[in-house]
Amino acid sequence: MSLPGIAQRADRVSFAPNMHVSPPSAPDATPGLAEARAVLRATFGHPDFRGPQADIVTHVAAGGDALVLMPTGGGKSLCYQVPALLRKARGLGTTVVVSPLIALMQDQVDAMRQIGVRASFLNSTLDARTVRATEQALLDGELDLLYLAPERLAMAGCQDLLERASVALFAIDEAHCVSQWGHDFRPEYLQLSVLHERFPRVPRVALTATADPQTRDEIIERLALHGARVFVSSFDRPNIRYTIVDRDEARSQLLRFIRDEHPGDAGIVYCLSRRKVEETAQWLQTQGIDAIPYHAGMDAAARAAHQARFQREDGVVVVATIAFGMGIDKPDVRFVAHLDLPKSIEGYYQETGRAGRDGQPADAWMSYGLADVVQQRRLIDASEASDDYKRISSAKLDALLGLCETAGCRRVRLLSYFGEEAGACGNCDNCLDPPQTWDATEAARKALSCIYRTGQRFGVGHLIDVLRGHDNERIRRWHHQTLSVYGIGTDLSDQEWRVVFRQLVALDLAQVDHGAHGALQLTEASRPVLRGECSVQMRRLVVRPRGGRGQRGGGGRDAPGRAALAAGLSGAQAEVFARLRAWRAEQARTQSVPAYVILHDATLAEIAQRAPTTIDALADIGGMGAKKLERYGTELLELLQLETED
Ligand code: ADP
Ligand code: ZN
Repeated sequence: MSLPGIAQRADRVSFAPNMHVSPPSAPDATPGLAEARAVLRATFGHPDFRGPQADIVTHVAAGGDALVLMPTGGGKSLCYQVPALLRKARGLGTTVVVSPLIALMQDQVDAMRQIGVRASFLNSTLDARTVRATEQALLDGELDLLYLAPERLAMAGCQDLLERASVALFAIDEAHCVSQWGHDFRPEYLQLSVLHERFPRVPRVALTATADPQTRDEIIERLALHGARVFVSSFDRPNIRYTIVDRDEARSQLLRFIRDEHPGDAGIVYCLSRRKVEETAQWLQTQGIDAIPYHAGMDAAARAAHQARFQREDGVVVVATIAFGMGIDKPDVRFVAHLDLPKSIEGYYQETGRAGRDGQPADAWMSYGLADVVQQRRLIDASEASDDYKRISSAKLDALLGLCETAGCRRVRLLSYFGEEAGACGNCDNCLDPPQTWDATEAARKALSCIYRTGQRFGVGHLIDVLRGHDNERIRRWHHQTLSVYGIGTDLSDQEWRVVFRQLVALDLAQVDHGAHGALQLTEASRPVLRGECSVQMRRLVVRPRGGRGQRGGGGRDAPGRAALAAGLSGAQAEVFARLRAWRAEQARTQSVPAYVILHDATLAEIAQRAPTTIDALADIGGMGAKKLERYGTELLELLQLETED
C-alpha cells in the first residue's frame, strides 16, 4: 500500500527532491529574497536557506497565505520567523504563532531572545501580572513574535486584544491538530477558522510534518486555506541512518548499540507497554546509562519532570511509550530505538523523525522479531474496531513488515510508501551491508508441512522442536516423534528457524491463530508453496559480531558520541568538542535554558573542527549570528586559545 498524493498534486506544489542538498530554489532576483537572506545571516547565522525555505519565506513575507508540509527537522520555524522580522521591519506588526506545545513555549522564546528577537508567549502557565505586561508589550508594538496557546486564542478577550494590536501574520504550527482523524487532534484548533473571519487581511501560514493527503485536505478545509499556496518538501531525512536488526537478545543488542554508537548522546527508546518502559529504563540505569521512563500511566508531575530533563539536559535517554513525542522539540536527539514494532510506516516515520532534527547524523534503530508480528496481529484482531478499520490496520502492518523484511534499501521503501521515488541511499543497514538472500523454498516447505502435520495447533517453539528433532515431554505426549517431519530440520539452528517462521508470517504464508495461544496455521498462499509450485526467497539472518560496527567504539559515559565522531572530528578536535559542550552545559545551567538554545551541536562541532582564532572567522560558522557572537564570541575564542596552549 502506498499513499498517493505528493506527485499527483504537483500542480499546486513545489517539490524539492532533496531539500538538504538542493541549491536555494529561488534566484536572487525574487523580490525580497536578498533582504530575507540578510536577516537569515545576521540574526540566525545561517549562510543560506534550505530547499523550499527561500520560496516560502518570500511568499509569506509578501503577505501570501501558505500551507507548509515539511518533515521534522526540515526547518519549518524559519518559515515564519524570518517573515516575522521582515514584516515587523516594514511596520506591519507582530507575528502571532499558534502552537499547542505549551511546555515548549518558554524554550522557544528563550531561543529567540538569545538571537535578539523580541519574543514572548501567552498561555495558562503565566501569572496575571506577566500576562498584563506581555499584552502591553504587544499593544506597544514591542514584540516581533508572540506565541499563543490555541485555547487562549479561542477566548473572546484575546481576539479583542489582537484586534487592538497590530498583527502582521498568523503562523499556525502543528496544523495537523485540526484533523479529527489524526491522533493529535485538538478541539481548540477547530476554532482557528475564526482567524480568517475576524482578521481577513492578516496572512496565515500553517505548518505541519504530517504528509498524508487526507490530513492536508482537512487542514485546507478547516482553516479555510483554499487560496493558500501549498509547499511540499521531500520527506526524506538523509541524515538519519535506518537499521533494523534481527532480534536475538533485544536488551543487550540495545545496550551494545547505545554503548558503541551513542555514548553520552540523547536518545529515545520506544516500547509498546508501560511495564516494559519501566523495566527497560531501570535496567539501562543499572548498566550506567542515564535513562528515565515516560508513559501515560505516570503522574503528570513526574512526566513533566522527565520530559524537562530530557529536553534541557545533555545526553539523557528516555524510555517511553508513544505517549512521548508531541511536544518534543529537541534538535540534538541522536538516536531513536524501537524495541517493539510500531503500528505502521506512518508511526515509524514520525517516531524515528524525532532523531537528528539538527541535520547531524542520527540513527533510527529497531530490533525486530517474530513476537512483534504475532503481537501486532493480535492487537488488530482483538480490537473492537470495525472490519474496515481492521483491514486498513492490517494492510498498514503488512507495509511495515515489508520494510522490515526487505533486502533492498530501507529509505527507498519508506519514501515509496509516501509516494516519493528515490535511489538507494547508502545510509541504511541494507545499503551499507547488503544482506544475502537465499532460496528458502525447501525450508519453507518443511516448516509449512510441520504446521500441517502437527494439526495447526502449535506455536513456533514447539514447531521448531519437532523440526529439529528435540526430545521433550511435549513431543512425547503428542507422539510427534513419529511424524514424518520430525527431525527433518537439523540443517538450520533454532534461531534460523525462528527467522524462517517470522518471514513466513510476514509474507502471509502462515498466520497466527490468537485464539489458540499463537498457534500457526496455513493460509491460501501457502498451498502453492507446499505443492512445490513456487519458490520462496528469504533474507538471511544477520548476526552482527559483538561490538557492532566496531570502528566507532570506545568511550565512557561522557565521551562525545556520534555527533562529534561522525562530523569527522579528529581525536584532538573531539576533545575540544567535549570541552565546548561542558562550557555550554555550564552556560545553560546559569541561564536556565536548554543547552541547544545556547548553541547547537553542529555549531560546536564546526568550531572544534575549524578552530577559529578571530571574531571574523567565528562569524563564518553556521549558527553564529550577530547576537551570539556578541554574547559568546570572546569567551569562545579564549576557550579555544587555552585549548591550543594546553
Ligand atoms: P522543524 O520545525 O521543521 O522540525 P526546525 O525549524 O526546528 O525544524 O529546524 C530544525 C533544525 O534545522 C534547527 O536546528 C534549525 O536551526 C536548523 N535549520 C533550519 N533551517 C536552516 C538553514 N537554512 N540553515 C541551517 N540550519 C537550519
Ligand atoms: Zn539505503
